[in-house]
Amino acid sequence: MTQHIGVIGYPLKHSLSPDFQQAALDYYQLDIRYEVWEEKAENLSSVVAQLRQPQNLGANVTVPHKEAVLRFVDEVDNQASLIGAVNTIVSSDGKLVGFNTDAHGFLRALRDDIKFEPRDKQAVILGAGGAARAIGFALLQEKVNLLAVANRTLARAESLAETLAKYAASKEIRTEIITLPWQDLELREALGRYQLIVNCTTVGMKHSSQEGQSPLLANSIPKGALVYDLVYNPSETSLLRMAKEAGADIIGGLPMLVYQGAASFELWTGREAPLDIMFEAAKQSLSKKGAGG
Ligand code: NAP
Repeated sequence: MTQHIGVIGYPLKHSLSPDFQQAALDYYQLDIRYEVWEEKAENLSSVVAQLRQPQNLGANVTVPHKEAVLRFVDEVDNQASLIGAVNTIVSSDGKLVGFNTDAHGFLRALRDDIKFEPRDKQAVILGAGGAARAIGFALLQEKVNLLAVANRTLARAESLAETLAKYAASKEIRTEIITLPWQDLELREALGRYQLIVNCTTVGMKHSSQEGQSPLLANSIPKGALVYDLVYNPSETSLLRMAKEAGADIIGGLPMLVYQGAASFELWTGREAPLDIMFEAAKQSLSKKGAGG
């Protein structure tokens, strides 16, 4: 019996996951098809319920359903519950368990691909949405020394900073947590003290209304910092281009995307993810789908 896994989201035209996950399944010659389950919010509960059928192994969940899906699964693992978002569902004997592999993917790319050790560093997160929450918890768990949250809507930055501070207190993590007004990001002094700047906003994403834009001005990027853009399409965003010109180190979102997907693959199949195959397929998919759709 052919088994199925899929990505649930809306819209999904530009998703790279079907290509690099299928490449990994084919590498092991598994009789499993990775499918595109493009569904709006009103169909979320029924598409998730179908995962209970024995031919379905699980799913990835992406924008805009990562938070809403929590109430449709039977169990949520600790990290996903902290973050408040699920990006992977594993179906086993009719039971659905939710995981979040974004934080893992983020940290693995930071360590393996750019050799950056976050402990005791000063970090700033741009954004306060789902990705920012995952990155915020990841950086706290790695015990950065200072964690700043800057978001266009200040109230959301404050709410995220408060949630992170409560968690830090409960775990006796001594990280200082602050918010930065979005307007201050235009000032060089505001960012001068940070060694890690992570863009968790959608600014710069291809096919969005902010395509080609950058959340920071060129002159506010400190030389020698690491600028990490979660946006993976295009592979070099305006932010990364400016950061490079400013003398900063850079990393884009593609390695994180592949590593979070590799962790999902291992949860569904119990096999080691073939990373080289997945990276190659993701890059090919990006050059095909990234261009126009
Ligand atoms: P989200 O929950 O919708 O959050 C979007 C964030 O972007 C919010 O903080 C929002 O600020 C901000 N924003 C939107 N438009 C803006 C603008 N014009 N100016 C300034 N800020 C703006 O999205 P998400 O799920 O966190 O995803 C964020 C990004 O991370 C996306 O590009 C996504 O593709 C990427 N991502 C990448 C990976 C990966 O593996 N590489 C994984 C997860 C996410 P407000 O609160 O003010 O609206």
